[in-house]
Amino acid sequence: MSKGRSLTELPVSSLSGVGPKLAEKFAQIGIHTLQDLIFHLPFRYQDRTRITPIGALQPNRDAVICGYSRGSDVVFGRRRSLLCRLRDDTGTVTLRFFHFSKSQQIQLQSGAKLLCYGEARRGSSGLEIYHPEFSLIADDAEPVLDDRLTPIYPATEGLSQKRLRAFVSAAINTLEKSGELPELLPQPLTQKLGMLGLKESLIYLHHPPQNASLQQLDEGEHPAQQRLAFEELLAHHLTLIRNRNRIRVHRAAVLSSPVAQAEIFKQQLGFELTAAQARCVTEISNDLAQPKPMLRLLQGDVGSGKTAVSALAALQAVANGYQVALMAPTEILAEQHRLSFSNWFQPLGFEVALLTGKTRAKARREILEQLANGQISILIGTHALFQESVEYHQLGLVIIDEQHRFGVHQRLELRDKGSEGNYYPHQLIMTATPIPRTLAMSAYADLDFSVIDGLPPGRKPVTTLVLSDKRRDEVVERIQNICNQGRQVYWVCTLIEESENLQCQAAEDTLINLQAALPNLRIGLIHGRLKAVEKSEVMDQFKANRIDLLVATTVIEVGVDVPNASLMVIENPERLGLAQLHQLRGRVGRGDAESFCLLLYHAPLSEHGKERLKVMRETSDGFIIAEKDLELRGPGEVLGTRQTGELQFRIADLVRDQGLLPEVKRAAIELMENQPRRTDALIHRWLGAAEQYGNV
Ligand code: ADP
Ligand code: MG
Repeated sequence: MSKGRSLTELPVSSLSGVGPKLAEKFAQIGIHTLQDLIFHLPFRYQDRTRITPIGALQPNRDAVICGYSRGSDVVFGRRRSLLCRLRDDTGTVTLRFFHFSKSQQIQLQSGAKLLCYGEARRGSSGLEIYHPEFSLIADDAEPVLDDRLTPIYPATEGLSQKRLRAFVSAAINTLEKSGELPELLPQPLTQKLGMLGLKESLIYLHHPPQNASLQQLDEGEHPAQQRLAFEELLAHHLTLIRNRNRIRVHRAAVLSSPVAQAEIFKQQLGFELTAAQARCVTEISNDLAQPKPMLRLLQGDVGSGKTAVSALAALQAVANGYQVALMAPTEILAEQHRLSFSNWFQPLGFEVALLTGKTRAKARREILEQLANGQISILIGTHALFQESVEYHQLGLVIIDEQHRFGVHQRLELRDKGSEGNYYPHQLIMTATPIPRTLAMSAYADLDFSVIDGLPPGRKPVTTLVLSDKRRDEVVERIQNICNQGRQVYWVCTLIEESENLQCQAAEDTLINLQAALPNLRIGLIHGRLKAVEKSEVMDQFKANRIDLLVATTVIEVGVDVPNASLMVIENPERLGLAQLHQLRGRVGRGDAESFCLLLYHAPLSEHGKERLKVMRETSDGFIIAEKDLELRGPGEVLGTRQTGELQFRIADLVRDQGLLPEVKRAAIELMENQPRRTDALIHRWLGAAEQYGNV
């Protein structure tokens, strides 16, 4: 190997034992160079440096043990298994194998001396270790133990931990001996923050010494981990800034503020915009009047009135002769938006149309034609909006509702749809899942923010009660009372599995039970298996108060707006995330009646479950709930599963490392200004090929 060559240039195939086939395998997981290999970081460690006396084994902990077999037997319980009793001076433990060969049974025969590694658990015969790794050692030989902690790497198919570990070790050896790995953080910064050196950190993390604290490493608190986490967060932040700068060089239609039309429009809304709404409208309006594309996130709690704000943005586009595309995550929501927008825009002479996956061929053809010739001003729909065949005449603004439901890719596609040469449509993204500041700073650093902080006047907070489902009868009685007052009720069924079919089944069963219990009520049912027309029919009836009680699955989670509904019952709320519960609960408390949300849990609740429901009972502030959710479930869940992949870090953890973020931000700006080359190298190091996804 050539001395002194940078590891950023040496291909993995320069390691002995890595042929073209293996190099190909590495390439599939984004590992091309020795640097890539070295930045494939362990996500946990095992301690195989010392022997634990069998008598001191703890359940649910990995350990190395050494002892003599007291014999092995095949037993025929619920599952055929091979049991071996292993004993040292301090005690005895059972090794249990479900898959085993005759020769293994012989190896484990009485008197054999074994070195084992595995996790002890409580079993029927006291402590047991399932499928331990084991090796036979000669009776008089001392067992050979590791002299450092064992790193465990993110696995990849067809490449065992053992081989992966060997290759990473080889790369680390190259680094230790001769290789160069450029230090990309500016020295004043590392000095100021008292950081470990890069090389030192990497060597430590791949080869932690025997006395390293396993706990500190597991928690990611070791200075070597913090050093790398900082660099990784910085790399992520830099991509966001870079993307943002890239977008800013595009041009966009200058949409001037339609002062007179906006006045008329506001008058027919039927309510005064709140101060927060008006401020957001102004922020958006100013952006739209710029010759560069807006990229703005409109955050507002459930029911804060984002739709009206987006409608004023749409008005600014159509008044300037441009088209608007509004994408919603569900058909129900798309249909509801079409209704509101038609009411608002048709009187002003602007055509509004709905396009979803369920739109029939003939209607679809017509819509596409009118869209292409500019007759339709506002097209509302689901992701069907950005299918290939959809051509706009002059798309000026893209509005995306409930952004957390969509991945970044869908957002990109819709934007590219309207691009013409260097011209891009403006983009307004709305979300009712408040994004905790930490996440906002790291996941959405490429966006501008507008926040509707506060609800329209007159809203009464929803009173939330947590009840065991044993009290179902009381709940049924309460529903009867509410409906007697002319109010309406939602009953939401949930299921653990993401199986839509099972969920629909549960809703159908619930409907039958409730019909029996409440024979004089008009009860409706809505779930994902209904056809689009059927769904909108049910929703229309509910809106028109021709249904008293609506049994639903979580399809009604987002956006549905029926102010007369004042009670929501959520079955098995323990199965849902806080953000989702908050969304659901936001369907009530929209009118002037006092509203209730009953969380009907199934006992017993876990500690975690109790805590979460308590949060729901105690606060209705979406931002607090989001922070809690982040704490309890992590960023992937909070941002929505679709986005998890896009926020995956190798070593950083947004919650744990949030303290680093302000310094990361400062460092990013400084690097961008003073050392743009390093910026590229950092991004490449940490995001490699994945970087293209960040290109929002
Ligand atoms: P979200 O922000 O959850 O999308 P919506 O836009 O659906 O909320 O608005 C919720 C309800 O509040 C709707 O019935 C809407 O008409 C009403 N609303 C919006 N803004 C105001 C306001 N300024 N005053 C009174 N009601 C309003
Ligand atoms: Mg909404």
